[in-house]
Amino acid sequence: MRTTVGIIGAGPAGLLLARLLHRAGVDCVVLEARDRAYVERRQRAGMLEQGSADVLRECGAGDRLDREGLVHRGFELRFEGEAHRVDLPSMTGGRTVTLYPQTEVVKDLIALQLEGGPPLLFGARVVAVEKADGEQPLVRFVTGGPGGQERTLECEYVAGCDGSYGASRRALPPGAVRIHVRTYPYSWLGILADVAPSSDELLLAGHERGFALHSMRTPALSRLYLQVPNDTSPDDWPDERIWDELDIRLAAGSWRLQRGPVLTKSVSGLRSLVIEPMRHGRLLLAGDAAHIVPPSAAKGLNLAFGDVVTMARAFTHWHRSGSTSLIDRYSDNCLRRVWQAQYFSHEMTTLLHAAPGADAYDRAMQLTRLRRVTGPTAAAAELAENYAGAPLI
Ligand SMILES: Cc1cc2nc3c(=O)[nH]c(=O)nc-3n(C[C@H](O)[C@H](O)[C@H](O)COP(=O)(O)OP(=O)(O)OC[C@H]3O[C@@H](n4cnc5c(N)ncnc54)[C@H](O)[C@@H]3O)c2cc1C
Repeated sequence: MRTTVGIIGAGPAGLLLARLLHRAGVDCVVLEARDRAYVERRQRAGMLEQGSADVLRECGAGDRLDREGLVHRGFELRFEGEAHRVDLPSMTGGRTVTLYPQTEVVKDLIALQLEGGPPLLFGARVVAVEKADGEQPLVRFVTGGPGGQERTLECEYVAGCDGSYGASRRALPPGAVRIHVRTYPYSWLGILADVAPSSDELLLAGHERGFALHSMRTPALSRLYLQVPNDTSPDDWPDERIWDELDIRLAAGSWRLQRGPVLTKSVSGLRSLVIEPMRHGRLLLAGDAAHIVPPSAAKGLNLAFGDVVTMARAFTHWHRSGSTSLIDRYSDNCLRRVWQAQYFSHEMTTLLHAAPGADAYDRAMQLTRLRRVTGPTAAAAELAENYAGAPLI
C-alpha cells in the first residue's frame, strides 16, 4: 500500500487529521489497532473548548454535537464550604465550552470517514515505523490479530496519533528527543453514576481532605471524581463511602448531591509528559503520543485537536506549494500551546489537590491562591481564559 500521509491511530487526533486532510485533497490512510466497537466505546474526555467544537463544525462533524452537546457558560470552584462561580463569556469575550463525550466525537468522525472518506483499517496494529529520517518512511503493521499477516504502508510522511503506548514513540531513536515527565503523588477515583447531574455546571472542589469533581456525561448520567492516594484499589471504596466523601468535599450551602447506582468505578494516576521536539524526520507526533496532561483542566483532547489542526495546515501547504516551511515549524508551533496547557493543568492540579504531608501553612497558601482566582483579579481573568482555551482556526 502507498499513500501520502500514513496516520497511526483512530483516536480523536488521527480521525480529525484524516478528515482535515481529506477535505484539503491530501491522500491518507488510517491504521487502527483495535476494532470499531472498542474505539467507539472507550470512555475518556468530555469537555470541548469552543475552538475544538468550532473545528468539528467546520469539517462537517458538528450536527449531533450541536443537537446533543451541553453548552456550559461557567463552572464553580468550591472551597471552605462556599461556591464561587466563574462566568466564562463575560471574562473571555463570549467563549463557552461544550460537554460532549469523546466516545461521541469518535463515532461522528468514524461515520463521516466510512461514508466516503480516506481508508480506515481497523484491526491494523502498527509494529514499526522505519526510515523516518529518509525520504520514504515505511509503516509495518499486522492485520488479523496475533500471528496475523504483516503488511507495509509506504508514505511520504507519518502522523503518529497512537496515544501514550503506541508504536510511534517507540520508533524514536534514543537521543532523538527529550522526554519531560512529572508523576503526581495522588490519583483519581472516577465513577459513572446512573443519576441526573446535581448541577447544570461542573463543580470543582479544593477541600482540605482532597479534590472532588462533579461532572456529567448526559442529562441522565453523572461523572464524579475523588482524589485518592496512589495505589488505591477501587475495591477499597464501596459505593456508600464514595458518596459520603463526595458529600463532604463538594458541600456548599444548601446544595445537595443526588445519589444513584454506580455503573463503573476506576482509579487512574495523574501525570504530565512532553516529548520535545514533536517530530523526528518524516514522523510527526500528535495528541497523547506527544504529550500527556493531568485531567484537572480537561485539556488532553483539546490539545490533540490543536496539534492536528496545525499538522493538517502544514501538510496542505506542502502538498499545494512543495514548501516544507510549516512542517519544519510544526513542533515549535505546537509546543508553545502544549507548554501553556501543561502550565495551566499543573496549576489547576496543585490549586485543588491536597498534597500528601501538606501542613497548615501549605493549606493557607492554597486558600490564598483559590481566593485570588475567584476574586475580581487579573488571576481570575487568566484562569477563565485558560479554561475556555484559545481559538484553533
Ligand atoms: C482514562 C482516561 C480519562 C481521560 N479523561 C479526560 C478528560 O476528562 N478530559 C480530557 O481533556 N482528557 C481526558 N483524557 C485524555 C484524552 O482522552 C486524550 O488526551 C485523548 O484521547 C487523546 O487523543 P489521541 O487521539 O491523541 O489518543 P488516543 O485517544 O489514545 O487514541 C490513540 C489511538 O491509537 C490506537 N493505537 C495505539 N497503538 C497503536 C498501534 N500500534 N497501531 C495502530 N493503532 C494504535 C489506539 O487504539 C487508539 O485508538 C483521558 C484519558 C484517559 C486514558
